[in-house]
Amino acid sequence: MLNKNKIMDCVILGSGPAGYTAAIYAARADLHPILFVGMQPGGQLTSTTKVDNYPGFSAGINGNELMENCKKQAERFNTIIIHKTITNVDFSDKKGGIHRVYMKNEENIESKGIIIATGSSPKFLGMDKEKKFLGLGVSFCATCDGFFHKEKDVAVIGGGDTALEEASYLSKICRNVYLVVRKNYFRASKALQDRISKINNVNIFFCSQITKIMGNDFLEGIQIFNTRNKISRTILISGLFIAIGHSPNTKLFKNKLNLDERGYIIVEKGSTRTNKPGIFAAGDVQDPTYRQAITSAGTGCMAALDLEKYLCLC
Ligand code: NDP
Repeated sequence: MLNKNKIMDCVILGSGPAGYTAAIYAARADLHPILFVGMQPGGQLTSTTKVDNYPGFSAGINGNELMENCKKQAERFNTIIIHKTITNVDFSDKKGGIHRVYMKNEENIESKGIIIATGSSPKFLGMDKEKKFLGLGVSFCATCDGFFHKEKDVAVIGGGDTALEEASYLSKICRNVYLVVRKNYFRASKALQDRISKINNVNIFFCSQITKIMGNDFLEGIQIFNTRNKISRTILISGLFIAIGHSPNTKLFKNKLNLDERGYIIVEKGSTRTNKPGIFAAGDVQDPTYRQAITSAGTGCMAALDLEKYLCLC
């Protein structure tokens, strides 16, 4: 049970691999963590199908199932899980100081330590009609929305691991998948490139940029421009899956913590310590480089250990 008048040792913001791992470690260290699940319970893995590269699952594991297991494990050690949105934070500058996280109606919780594991969100292209057609053909998640385009033609934008995973998944449901890549090479891993090159109904357009999103009430097509031969073409599609990377979820922490130019939380090298005492960051929110489920989990563990040490020294 949550006692709102008590000053807590550990509040965790976010419920991806970093958040849950931090909770498991903090709970086992008797820090009685409270975890706010955030906007996307379970984090980004809940929008992938099979996770093949998380150690310990020799046959792979469904992303939702993996996160559900992490949640149960955190609960087994009595982590309190809260389904409310944080609207503001107030971080103390002092060592041993008390921090506050606010929910709606100024309701707040005080804690000596906070672990930020709010992850990142997919980026928009920034084009006309992109937001208007969200849910009306435009999507960020093939596993969530691919079914609506059964036996139809769709396009995926991007050349990284996410785009190739999405294209591979959609190729099993849709008639044709057009993969639009802005450079003349992929950024994705070699293994995924090999897999995609063997799929007959994935058509790859390198050196291509999307110049127009077409349709009136819902998505009907896109126009793409080939930057090499300068030719434009129209592709009629019912689904457009955008997979062009992510931005860190750090809006709440702007002007409260040191962020880099892309908005990632800056942590001390080799640790999860931010510039404020008692505030730690783990997972994608502080990692523009690796961004893997396993590295997120690893930094979640580090954050709980860093916090435990911090509390002992206060
Ligand atoms: P990435 O940042 O790796 O790739 C983004 C892709 O989108 C790049 O090809 C980039 O092109 C392209 N892009 C960016 N902006 C635009 C734009 N405005 N218009 C068109 N194209 C654009 O993001 P991902 O989400 O693919 O991957 C993120 C991380 O997650 C990576 O570390 C990846 O390894 C990991 N991941 C791992 C998976 C796995 O292991 N199975 C699955 C999914 C993700 P350019 O190259 O020109 O910049």
